[in-house]
Formats: sequence, structure tokens, C-alpha cells
Amino acid sequence: MKEAIHERSWVEIDLAVFRHNLNVLKGYLLAGQSFMQIVKADAYGHGAKEISEAALASGAVYLGVANAEEGRVLRLQSCKAPILILSPALISEIPKILEYDLSPSISDLSFASALSTEARKSNKEITIHLKIDTGMHRSGVDVSRARTFYDAVAKLPNLKIEGIFSHFASAENDSQFTKRQEKLFQDLISSLEQPPRYVHISNSAGLIGGYGKFCNLVRLGIASFGIRQDGNKDIPLKPVMSFKSSLIQIKDIRAGESVGYQREWFAKKDGRYGIIPVGYADGYDFLLSNKSVVLIRDRICPVIGRISMDMLTVDLSHLDEASLGDEVILLGDENENLRVENISSIYHGSAYELLCQVGRRAKRFYRIEDHILHSTPLARRDFVAKDFDNSKLNHIISAALAERLDDQEIGEMIYREILRNFFYNKDRDIHYRKDFHHEISFAKSDSEDFYLASTHLSYKKVLSSDFFIIACASSNESLRTFLMDPRVEYRWLLDAKLSLHPHNFIVNAVRVNGLDLHTTLEQDSGSLLIRCSHPKLRSLINSELDFEINTTTLYPKSSHQFSVFISELTQGVQISFEFPEDLSHVEPVSIFSGQEKNPPITFEDHRISIKTKPDEWIFPLSGVVFAY
Ligand SMILES: *Cc1c(COP(=O)(O)O)cnc(C)c1O
Repeated sequence: MKEAIHERSWVEIDLAVFRHNLNVLKGYLLAGQSFMQIVKADAYGHGAKEISEAALASGAVYLGVANAEEGRVLRLQSCKAPILILSPALISEIPKILEYDLSPSISDLSFASALSTEARKSNKEITIHLKIDTGMHRSGVDVSRARTFYDAVAKLPNLKIEGIFSHFASAENDSQFTKRQEKLFQDLISSLEQPPRYVHISNSAGLIGGYGKFCNLVRLGIASFGIRQDGNKDIPLKPVMSFKSSLIQIKDIRAGESVGYQREWFAKKDGRYGIIPVGYADGYDFLLSNKSVVLIRDRICPVIGRISMDMLTVDLSHLDEASLGDEVILLGDENENLRVENISSIYHGSAYELLCQVGRRAKRFYRIEDHILHSTPLARRDFVAKDFDNSKLNHIISAALAERLDDQEIGEMIYREILRNFFYNKDRDIHYRKDFHHEISFAKSDSEDFYLASTHLSYKKVLSSDFFIIACASSNESLRTFLMDPRVEYRWLLDAKLSLHPHNFIVNAVRVNGLDLHTTLEQDSGSLLIRCSHPKLRSLINSELDFEINTTTLYPKSSHQFSVFISELTQGVQISFEFPEDLSHVEPVSIFSGQEKNPPITFEDHRISIKTKPDEWIFPLSGVVFAY
């Protein structure tokens, strides 16, 4: 039983049908031939992501797009397959080509040298395909100059000629011209000592017509979407896309009355007609006015009157059983009349164009036979959060943070530390710190070069495990790993001149709700790990407790600065720094991300403190640098 969809209009893409078409087409491939799936223009309106994934799963070795931006979008959707840009690229698209590892097609030496220069600068090798014009006379280097062109491009550093290709002008209906193109291309390939890895000329019609047998790659577009062209009317290709709507109103009409703008249709006798909420703004071509048909309850109904922007009207006089809310098939069905190639031929249009323009206001539903997999939201210019499901929103939030902060790592960390807690823990046990106090005091030590640094840390937090770790790192790298480690409650970076020994980093007390925890030392190569635990902790898991950590260590005088950073989402922060008399001038520089960028700072004799409002949320990597 088909799952019902209730929308004003929608597009269904059946991925099982797409796979079926690919299987039919793969039957035409010779041994040693593989195929590139063309997904330009959002896979002819079918959705580049979904079609690419399905095609790759069916054996496609390459994807073809129209421009760098289409390639970039696929990359951002985690597509790893090789991607060829079919149209010539602009010089301004070179950075995108490099960043997203796209293969441009090359029809121009000056572009190739610019690409080579940029590739060399960024120390990358770009795979390219040379485009040869064998008579289509659109893009590509004229075949008469192709040999020289090939040799010139081959000399350019950091470019790798991975492919060479040409394109048929009318493989579906002009065999004489197609054979001429094929011959010119084949002669060129034979003249190469070592042809590149991929040699390709055929599109869908070329493959079905049996051209390009000397090639090892074909580029499949229109036929994979189930459109039949001249010369292949009997092939069992099925439409992948159907465009549907609902009957929103049914009315009676009397003989002699007209329907729609400019009164182009008149009722010859009394009858009934229906209104469908789809017009040319939805991609239903205006030229179909008075000419087209739709399918309701498996019956053909003629479109009457002009197509409006948002509505069209159909004759229901022969269909007494039609009722409000009935599903209307506008395009794409096993019924021959509804095939895109037949509807587009009504106005001498192009099936390619109709596919690309269909459903501009419709959601796309992906299905495998009767089962709906998922739907994609309406395409809007502005971001509307409600359009997206949670997993998509999580991805958007994480990507937006990274983009806004211009730092992937910090963006991911903030996302991970804060938002994951909010979103993934459905029970809302958010393990943030509250009422965070960090007091540091520097005093004279036995050594000339170091201050004795005492730290007192206290905060409230929900206990998540029956132990936690205090970490003392000897390098920035190991400190960094502790920042990412949820078991670590407190971390310290020991000066490189000090040995990583417990007498240089003393944990004086670790308490949870006044309970003194047992500490055991674990040492690894770059850090001291102090494991803090107590048998009673287990029963306290999931309750909010008071944490207290006191340490004594040494801090180099020569550093001239001391930083305190917040490593987790924290509500309410107070940081204070007490320093000895020999430090006459200490300058606090605070970096706070959250609502309040500049929390108030108070200066006493030898003490500086910074305090946010108690309910203020402080984001990770906020903190203070005390410069002395
Ligand atoms: C669009 C395109 C194709 C696919 O053609 P179909 O007729 O849809 O199979 C193949 N090659 C190139 C260069 C194209 O631009």
C-alpha cells in the first residue's frame, strides 16, 4: 500500500526505478566500459545528492556537474567520488576547484596554465579532462588542433590529464553526423601514444545507439531518469520523477461560459471542471495552456484555459467520480500520455528543460517503490529552521559555528561541548558547571625563576561518573587532548623546564560535597594523570554536587603572562588572581564569549578579580590573560 502524501503539490523520486533504469543501461556497456552519472542541474531536478549516492551504489565511477558550485555542494554533502565539471570553468572558480578536489574539463590553454600555476602554488595535483570539439561546436578545442593542444597541456606542471572527451550533437537521430564525430574522435585517440585513463564521447543516446565502442566511459543523463528519446522508444526505461498535486476545487460550468485568463476556453456543453493548485510558477509550462492533460483516478483529463501563475484548470465532465482532494498526476507516470517526453512535445519543448523546471514550489519525496525514505524541504532563499529535521539541524549548527568562528576545531568543540549535551541527552541532564570560582595566587618560591602558584577551584556540576581526572600536561598538544576528554575536570600546563614529577604539581585536596576523594597517580609519557575517586561517588552519580580542587605548583616568572580559560559551558564565573609585591603592574585581558563580552574587573592591592553575573552563560575558551 502506497504511503499517502498530502501537499498542494509534490515531486516523487523513485530510487528503485532509477536503479532499474541504470541496470537497463548497464546492459549496453561493453566489457571494460564504466559510466559517469551526470548530476548537473541538481540531477535534472531529481536531487544531485540522492541520485549520486544511488548511482555510485550501482557502479558509477564518476559524477558530472555543470560548474564548480555544484561540485562543491556535493562535497559538502560528503560526496567523495571523482567529480567532472562539464562546462568550461572560469578563472575565478579555480580556488573552489582546488579546495574541493574537482576535475575541470579543459578547452582552453590559457585557463589550463592559470590552473597549473594555482595548483603549483598550493602544491596540489589537479586531474583534468580535455574537451574536444568534434562538430557539436559548443565548448572544447577544435579537433584539428587537439593534438597540439594535448601536448601543450601535458607539459604543464601539477596537472594530470586523466581523461579526454567529446560530445555528440544528435546521437539520437542523426547517425551520419554522429558517425563523423565518432570517427574524428577515434582518429585523435589513435594518434596518442598513451591515451589517458578515461576516453569518453557518448551520452545516453550515444550509448543506446552503439557509438563510441573504443571508449571506456559513457556519460549517462536523461535515459537514467527514464526519458525515452528518438530511436529508443522501446527500451524499458521508466520515469523516475513524477509531479503530483491534489484537486482543490470542483465546479460546474454551463455551455458558453469561459474559463481562465483571456477567456481562451469555452464550454461547449454543461459540465464540471476542477482546479489544481499548480501553475507556471511551479514549473508547469505556460505553453501547456489548453493543450496538456493530467491523470486523475487513472483517467486522462484535458487542461482547459490558460495556465495561471499558481493554478490550472482541467475538464472533469467525463469523470463523475472525481472528488475533492483526489491525487492528480501532472507529469511522469507509466501512462504514456504523462511521460515528460510526451508532455514536453505538446509545446515542442525539451524534456530536459521540463524536468529541470518542475516542482519549484514542491517538496521532493524519495521513495523505494511504495516506501517513502525521506523528503527534502522546499527550496527557499532564506533559512527556515523548522524545514529541517534534527540531524540536519545539528549538522547546520555545527557547520555554522565553524564558519562563523572561522575555525573548524573551535567550532566543533563548542558544538560538541554545549549543543550535543542539549540535543542528544533527551532526558536533559546537561552537565554544565555552575557558580565557577577559580582563585590563583602567586607567591615567592624557593626558586629564583618560579612563583609558587596555588589554585583553588570550586563549582557545582552534575556528577557523571564515579571518578574523574586531574591532568598536568607538559606540552600544549597533550593539554589539547585533555580539553577534549570528558573525564578530565581540571588541567594544568607545566613549564617545560620543570620535570613532570608529582612534587612539581601537588594536588592538595579534591572534594565532592565535602567528601575527600582518593587520588592515585598515573603517569604517561607527556603528562601526570591524577585519578580522583571514592566508593561513595557511585551513589551520587546524576546529582548536582559541589566540586573543589586545590593544587600547588610552580609557574615561571619569565612567562610574563598567566591565562585562565573556561573549558566547558559554565553558568556564572569568578576568576581572581593574587600576586606578590614584586609584581607591580598586572594587566588583565579578558576574552569572554557569551552575552556579556566584558564582565566587570575589580582591582585591589595585589588582587584582580573578574566576575560575571551568576546566571550568565559563559562559552568554552572564554577566559582571562593576566599580563605582568
Ligand atoms: C548533459 C551532458 C551529458 C548527458 O547527456 P544525456 O543526453 O542527458 O545523457 C553528457 N555529456 C555532457 C558533456 C553533458 O553536458
